[in-house]
Amino acid sequence: MFSPPLYTCFTFLHFYLFTLTMIVTEHKQTSPDNGMTENNAPRIAVLALQGAFIEHENMLRRLGAEVFEIRQLSDWDKAKDGLVIPGGESTTMRKLLHDLRLLIPIRQAITEGLPVFGTCAGLILLSKEVEGEQSERIATMDALVCRNAYGRQLGSFHIKAPFKGIDDEVPMTFIRAPYIKKVDDGVEVLAEVDGHIVAARQDRQLVTAFHPELNDDTRVHEYFLRSVVLQKL
Ligand code: GLN
Repeated sequence: MFSPPLYTCFTFLHFYLFTLTMIVTEHKQTSPDNGMTENNAPRIAVLALQGAFIEHENMLRRLGAEVFEIRQLSDWDKAKDGLVIPGGESTTMRKLLHDLRLLIPIRQAITEGLPVFGTCAGLILLSKEVEGEQSERIATMDALVCRNAYGRQLGSFHIKAPFKGIDDEVPMTFIRAPYIKKVDDGVEVLAEVDGHIVAARQDRQLVTAFHPELNDDTRVHEYFLRSVVLQKL
């Protein structure tokens, strides 16, 4: 039927397609879609637009997580098991999230159950209400926060306080920090300082008003990976 050269050509094409199918199948087997890496370490996205994101990355890597940065919309498509929103300046981050068209996809993913850990400015961005502000935010957590709540005198301070779910007191560094003034029923209070809520959890959303990434103590990040991302007790 076919002349010999044409037949050879088809045989080669067949072999090429077969090899390609094998490679793709193998890749799928070793790269599950849930973001979990081959050795089952969680893969965590860190919002890296502004603020203290490197410190979170270092801490997560120390705990064995795989980390990648979210700097633009195309980064958001990568598979992930959780998201960290660092401290910094919430007004700047909010503007960048909006301009880069990341705000809505992030809000949607969290609403659909993506585990998230927000520290300080991250807490502000995740809260549904901010006292005296009507700005657009991620707004997925049923909390009312007060920005720069400690006033100028007490702008930054460091203390140790109990944290529910972690043995012993946890070091807490506050930098022009907010606190949570009010939470709804679905939100569990994890830590309080001077009668103000400074750490809370709502399902798979964890927030702290302080910066656990700025100390050497890894236990709050461990809590996030173990209890919020992997949902182990
Ligand atoms: N004061 C900052 C804000 O309002 C938050 C400070 C921080 O993240 N350390 O956004």
